[in-house]
Amino acid sequence: MFEKYVNLLKEKQLKITPQRIEVLQYLDKHRTHPTVDEIYSELKEKNPSLSKTTVYNSVEILEKNVLIQSITISGSELRYDFKEGMHHHFLCKQCGEIIDIDVTCPNLGNMLECGHDVQEVHGYFKGICKKCLKKGENL
Ligand SMILES: [Zn+2]
Ligand SMILES: [Zn+2]
Repeated sequence: MFEKYVNLLKEKQLKITPQRIEVLQYLDKHRTHPTVDEIYSELKEKNPSLSKTTVYNSVEILEKNVLIQSITISGSELRYDFKEGMHHHFLCKQCGEIIDIDVTCPNLGNMLECGHDVQEVHGYFKGICKKCLKKGENL
C-alpha cells in the first residue's frame, strides 16, 4: 500500500524515509490542501515522537522534487497539494475551502512549443462555493 509512494521517491532518486512516505500519503488521502502545520499535527497524532523539523524538511524536499506543490491562493500561508496532473484551484472567500478545478491551461501548449520545461501551472479562482451559495439561499 506504500508502494505507490516508495516508487515516487525512487523515481526521483530520493532516500526513502518513513516521514516522506507519510507526508505523501497524507496529502494523497487528504485533498484539502493543508498547511505544513496541519500536516505535522495530524501525523504527530499517530507518531508522537515526530519532530516538526523532520516534517518541514520532508515537505521541502518533496516540493523541490515536484512530488507535491505549494499553492499561495489564500495569500497568507502556503498550502500543500499532492501533485497529480496540473490543476487549478478555487478558493471560497466565505468558508475558505480550496477546491480542485480540472481545467487545462490554454496557454500551456504555446509554452511547450517555446521549449521550456514547464513544471507548474497555477490558476487561482476566487468566489463563493456551491455549498455557501446554497446556505445563503436558505437564510
Ligand atoms: Zn464556501
Ligand atoms: Zn489541488
